[in-house]
Amino acid sequence: MAIDDPVTVLPGVGPKRADALATLAIRTVGDLLFYFPYRYDDLQVKDLTLAADQEKLTVKGVVVSDPVVTRFGPHKNRLNVKIQVVHAVVLVTFFNQPWLKDRFTMGTEAAIYGKWDAGRHTLTGMKVLATQTEDAPSLAGIYTVNKYIRQSTVIDLIKAAWQRDGQNIPDVVPLAVRERLKLLPDQAIVHGMHFPSDADEAKAARRSAIFREFFLFQCKIQSLRQDDLNVANGLAIPYDNDELKALIKTLPFDLTNAQKRSVNEICRDMRRPRHMNRLLQGDVGSGKTIVAAIVLYATVTARYQAALMVPTEVLAEQHFAKLTKLFADFPVRIRLLTGSTPGKERRATLDGLMTGDVDIVIGTHALIQKEVNFAALGLVVIDEQHRFGVQQRKILQEKGLKPDLLAMTATPIPRTLAITAYGEMDVSTIDELPAGRQPITTTWVRKNQLRDAMARIKTELLAGHQVFAITPLIAESEKIDLQNAEQLYEDMDHAFHEVAKVALLHGQMKNDEKDAIMRAFSDGEVQLLVATTVVEVGVDVPNATVMIIFDADRFGLAQLHQLRGRVGRGSAAAYCILVADPKNETGVARMQIMTETQDGFLLAQKDLEMRGGGDIFGTNQSGLPAFKLGDPVGDYAVLNTAQQAAETLFEADPGLSAPEFAPLRGYLARQQQTQGSLD
Ligand code: ADP
Ligand code: MG
Repeated sequence: MAIDDPVTVLPGVGPKRADALATLAIRTVGDLLFYFPYRYDDLQVKDLTLAADQEKLTVKGVVVSDPVVTRFGPHKNRLNVKIQVVHAVVLVTFFNQPWLKDRFTMGTEAAIYGKWDAGRHTLTGMKVLATQTEDAPSLAGIYTVNKYIRQSTVIDLIKAAWQRDGQNIPDVVPLAVRERLKLLPDQAIVHGMHFPSDADEAKAARRSAIFREFFLFQCKIQSLRQDDLNVANGLAIPYDNDELKALIKTLPFDLTNAQKRSVNEICRDMRRPRHMNRLLQGDVGSGKTIVAAIVLYATVTARYQAALMVPTEVLAEQHFAKLTKLFADFPVRIRLLTGSTPGKERRATLDGLMTGDVDIVIGTHALIQKEVNFAALGLVVIDEQHRFGVQQRKILQEKGLKPDLLAMTATPIPRTLAITAYGEMDVSTIDELPAGRQPITTTWVRKNQLRDAMARIKTELLAGHQVFAITPLIAESEKIDLQNAEQLYEDMDHAFHEVAKVALLHGQMKNDEKDAIMRAFSDGEVQLLVATTVVEVGVDVPNATVMIIFDADRFGLAQLHQLRGRVGRGSAAAYCILVADPKNETGVARMQIMTETQDGFLLAQKDLEMRGGGDIFGTNQSGLPAFKLGDPVGDYAVLNTAQQAAETLFEADPGLSAPEFAPLRGYLARQQQTQGSLD
């Protein structure tokens, strides 16, 4: 199809420019057509009496003064010119663009786009616009670009793509759906997004484009689900209930009701021949590991093998140690496989997996290497699932006869959103913490009120406990992050070196360095760990009692909650100290709610409602896919409608075999092919 042609079919696009476009994920003509602006500059002339202060707008009138350039610093100058607009005279100022002087002649007409100062009745000019061309667009799209490609180039190429293929854009959203929901066809979406003749056209296009984006995502989920529903694709695991009960009896605690319910849901799925694709969702510390252990064991009683994949070596070692202890009196052969497993041991484990002499393997990414083969893999469990890409999950699954999959996540997502986000999965939720948990006392202090916090840290260190000190990652500059972390490390070391060994852990360290430091902290050799957010991931150090988080207002609530969950795991009282000078009311409210509740789901809900600076959905923390246009929170109703539309469609025609679904079918097939490059 024409719009699937590579961008190199367009004039002026050679291999180099194609590479530059690829950095924006633009590879085909269609990618260009659907590369939408994130906002518009309004070039339409505005009635100044209605203009808001600091609004960006266009002023049009007659030049009534000679343009004058004045210097006011070694490299600074301003250009002033007066424009008569209706009955008023507006002073327009351009900074550091003296050459624009030539664009203004007394007595002629001029149009200028700029920022309006309503108090002074002046305009800070940004652009001089052409006044003659009647058909000049009134809204100019502004596109995301990077250092490899310029805004104007992207705009030119989109125009070229439109000229070439604007008439050949197939409609992927079925006509019936579009008519029912009053949505525009794809061609009108593309036109309205790029070249709207007014704000209404842009708005209508955007509405349809958001639906389209959500709908296609939901269709992808539905088609994944089709595979799972197909009985022939799955594996029945006839586990032994009595043996399972025997294991549960040896636990040093009673399972919570939520844990029991989750175990039952998972076991029921496993026994069935259809493929299991289930998400186990539970707040930090809710006890997901034991649920995983039980179902891993269930798999073994059915004479199948099981694999548990985790994101870090430290976590793999922790799980391995725990499960080895748990299975000590049971006939389970369990092995650890990570990047640092010594060669001989590694070969033995690989052999054992191949012959079936190893029942359970726990490991990191090392598990998805080519050399790892199983005799009869029945279940794959993935801990902290959002840390792995779709592709990595898939590779491990393909090592068996379509083994059952259990993904675990501690990111609390409100139920409504979970259904949409993980639509292809069934969800089990542990919504209850084990009894007798130590509450974590959370306090919020301003940066100049650190004294009590430092005293608390000292007391805890002297009592033999451990402390986490966290500083945020600021995406824009890794260098500044590192400086912040190093500075904090020096401050902490200076303050506490007499009572504690202090170590620094940051994102730019190599993996084995990180693991070594994490291990030293986990073993108690280091008592105070200064870290960027790398500690989020599941480590269990019960002796840690203080979590102090600097610039806490830079984190989302869910992230703060995750970090806080790293303490309060032992028998001693635990403390979480948030250090922040929030800049607005939302920031203050966010700090306050953290001190008031420890319920992850409630926090997630609040996060949705407040949507302040750092939100859970902005980052990969949530495991929610990143949408380009739609906002799964703000546009939730649309997401929901799209989900229902996709579900209905697939119920009626699971294979999308009707001719009118051909474009959609083609789209999904292409998506599957390029799946590997998605993450
Ligand atoms: P997470 O869900 O964050 O992965 P873990 O599985 O690490 O949580 O469990 C946290 C701690 O709670 C562990 O030390 C575990 O042994 C303990 N635990 C799990 N279930 C129970 C329970 N039902 N009663 C008491 N303690 C439990
Ligand atoms: Mg865990």
